[in-house]
Amino acid sequence: DGTYRIFGQKIFITYGEHDFTDNIVHLVLARLPDAPAGTRGISLFLVPKFFVNDDGSLGARNDVFCSGLEHKLGIHASPTCTMIYGDGFQGAQPGAVGWLIGEENKGLACMFTMMNNARLAVGMQGVAVAETATQKAIAYANERRQGKASAYAGSGMAPIVHHPDVQRNLLTMKALTQIARSISYSCAHALDRARVGEGAAGAKWHDRASLLTPLAKAFSTDVGVEVASLGVQVHGGMGFIEETGAAALYRDARIAPIYEGTNGIQAIDLVSRKLPLGGGEHVHGYISELKAVAEAVRTSNIEGFGRTADNLDRALADLDEATRFLQKLLADGKADAAMAGATPYLRLISLAAGGAYLAQGGL
Ligand SMILES: Cc1cc2nc3c(=O)[nH]c(=O)nc-3n(C[C@H](O)[C@H](O)[C@H](O)COP(=O)(O)OP(=O)(O)OC[C@H]3O[C@@H](n4cnc5c(N)ncnc54)[C@H](O)[C@@H]3O)c2cc1C
Repeated sequence: DGTYRIFGQKIFITYGEHDFTDNIVHLVLARLPDAPAGTRGISLFLVPKFFVNDDGSLGARNDVFCSGLEHKLGIHASPTCTMIYGDGFQGAQPGAVGWLIGEENKGLACMFTMMNNARLAVGMQGVAVAETATQKAIAYANERRQGKASAYAGSGMAPIVHHPDVQRNLLTMKALTQIARSISYSCAHALDRARVGEGAAGAKWHDRASLLTPLAKAFSTDVGVEVASLGVQVHGGMGFIEETGAAALYRDARIAPIYEGTNGIQAIDLVSRKLPLGGGEHVHGYISELKAVAEAVRTSNIEGFGRTADNLDRALADLDEATRFLQKLLADGKADAAMAGATPYLRLISLAAGGAYLAQGGL
């Protein structure tokens, strides 16, 4: 009748079961009996919790159930469910009824449409938690008084925001958060340009979005954890106590480098699939654009930039060298050696690009 019966179990399904909505529609990857082995044999199905009648009202319960919830380090408000499809609880004939989305055995390609969006959204989770942690830490540092500070002219003990080491923490939080935000926005900008661009211009922006997606996901979510941890530090002992909320941010931030493809997998994607884009030239075009920012900073003669142009030059020269080194390893068939450097490389390109973006903001 055009439907399929789905059997199996899947752990780690976010909001696999809840009662916020009348119905839940699951997108399920499953294998048909005669499917080819591996990822070429995966199809995508739509599996509703309740069937929908012709008049739009809800009908019978489908054979898909949540069998348990995980106990987690963080994101306690988000139910992480184990789902069981087709164990015969419902109706005479067991099997969760599903409808095929797209073509048979093309499910992975469909899923990547969602995955790319999800990666950007999870990257924004990193930015958001970092921003929240920064705002919270700044507010606390203005309120909490401890010790004396030469920069504080008021009476009594100084608000801790006047201590240089606290300022260092706050400025690090602010800079990392702004870099993560600027990379995410650059990626979104590239996606928009790719959507409206035609021919070579469209292709260039498509490659740019592809290059920046692993940065937007991995760097931003690493920053979420790092900045949330610094936020705990700025709160001192109160950071370790639940009532300030700093600890909850730290725990909640920790999932983002893991789900929607671990950050290690993002780094592998960057080095193995994104560095070769455009015959290996796209990334060098990008680095040239960043170098142009460094040059614009140098010639601007804006005093507040200090040694920014020199620092950017050095970072971009390192990036250039590391990029060519990894590309050579790949060309020489030394993929394992290249993969061993993938995560530090993702950090390097993100910091170098982010430094240029921040400088551009000051021009
Ligand atoms: C709270 C939570 C919610 C989730 N929600 C969903 C959801 O809604 N839907 C869903 O489908 N999934 C969901 N997941 C699953 C999540 O996407 C995976 O846990 C995540 O992608 C990592 O996969 P894994 O757990 O199998 O880790 P593994 O693949 O076992 O990875 C373990 C370690 O090995 C590394 N590694 C693995 N393979 C390689 C490789 N080839 N090369 C180098 N390093 C490698 C990883 O980077 C990682 O450090 C959720 C998970 C959690 C914890």
